Amino acid sequence: MPELPEVETIRRGLAPMLARQRFLAVMAGDKRLRQQSSLEEFSKWVAGRRLKSLRRRGKYLVFNLEGGATLLIHLGMTGRLMLLPSPAPALPHVHLTFQMEGGLDLVFQDTRRFGQALVFPPGETPPPLAQVGREPFSKKVTPQWLAEQARGRSRPLKNFLLDGRALAGIGNIYACEILFAAGIHPGAPVSRLTLKEWARVLKETRRVLKAAIRKGGTTINDFLNSQGETGLFQLDLLVYGRGNEPCTRCGTPIARLVQAGRSTFFCPVCQK
Ligand SMILES: [Zn+2]
Repeated sequence: MPELPEVETIRRGLAPMLARQRFLAVMAGDKRLRQQSSLEEFSKWVAGRRLKSLRRRGKYLVFNLEGGATLLIHLGMTGRLMLLPSPAPALPHVHLTFQMEGGLDLVFQDTRRFGQALVFPPGETPPPLAQVGREPFSKKVTPQWLAEQARGRSRPLKNFLLDGRALAGIGNIYACEILFAAGIHPGAPVSRLTLKEWARVLKETRRVLKAAIRKGGTTINDFLNSQGETGLFQLDLLVYGRGNEPCTRCGTPIARLVQAGRSTFFCPVCQK
């Protein structure tokens, strides 16, 4: 499941390839994503428009189009964006194909259809973006601000990181890695964290995400050539998926627990 670093990697791969290009046409597959604008809306607001900029907010790719409309893409659990020479070959589970003027097709494939492809008319802030929290690298995010967001809440720290409405873009894998690096128990109630602990969480959040983006960057060419694979699985994960393996710091077997329906991996000795 793509998280902030994977989406950022995809953005960095696509942006130079699509810069200032016009969307010539939009084609839709038989089955729709769970959240997908109609072909009429795509034809009205996307077809014929140039891409002004490609940004990222949380796990969303934000295509700002000439004329002021916004195309939002979220890869959900299994979504892939591919840039293929036009006309792209017929592939299974393709929901949308954007024909670009440079001779490439931008293809959105999603086997489980949890992805989103939504277009919003000019002047409208896309409602899904209003739900996205602050970017972890924003200067507006400080240990004090995090403590304020957590005030009076008893929810576990890992759930707070996953929520996305305070801090954007962190998913299950990186949340586990961040908390291991920070040495804090994933079940720690957020209201009890000290400023010092928030500072550690923030520092490790930025370090882990940055390292993952750097890894992803080395695979950008592969990504463009090999149909949307990102660097996610090249990342050296220290706890995620390592249940019962010895902790790299202290040798204690890595423990697993389920929080909000998701597996959490942590070291019961290093994370207090
Ligand atoms: Zn340990």
